[in-house]
Amino acid sequence: MPGFTSKSRPLIACGWALPTVKQAIKAKIAIKAWCTVSTLRQKVLESITRAGWEMTAPPVLWSPRMTRCAGLFVLEKDNRGYWHPEIRLSIPLIRRLDRPWPLEVCGCFCRDPDAVLSRILEHELVHYKLWKDGDSDWGHTQRFRQIAWEVFGHQGIHHGIGTEDSGNSM
Ligand SMILES: [Zn+2]
Repeated sequence: MPGFTSKSRPLIACGWALPTVKQAIKAKIAIKAWCTVSTLRQKVLESITRAGWEMTAPPVLWSPRMTRCAGLFVLEKDNRGYWHPEIRLSIPLIRRLDRPWPLEVCGCFCRDPDAVLSRILEHELVHYKLWKDGDSDWGHTQRFRQIAWEVFGHQGIHHGIGTEDSGNSM
């Protein structure tokens, strides 16, 4: 489980590993503004509001280079020792359209990339919530499962999109 042990390397509490990376790269999905930064931030804020959580939204970034995980919750420590949370999303994996829809993500059926994005964001936000609450473990704990189910209706937490479950890469 992640802990405050590393000073330079970011801590990654969650990874969505997908076995179809090569296909995703081959697909070369255009890195255009499929979901702009402002709408992405809006999505995060909406999810937090819907959850009834009184907390600030963490920065959320699109990464064109993330090809192993669709979503990550990352903590980085600065020179002064402050931790900075961040959610990173994979452009090539989340924007893939050539999938057999609907897809199962977090135990929910998703009918388009936008729904996949929402479920992954919600999942990463639960990690963020545990961290903000000061839980010593913000991984897939019992409390994580409880929040994911009660707040977002997630029935699963396995790290895969669709029926592929490539295991836990936390
Ligand atoms: Zn996770």
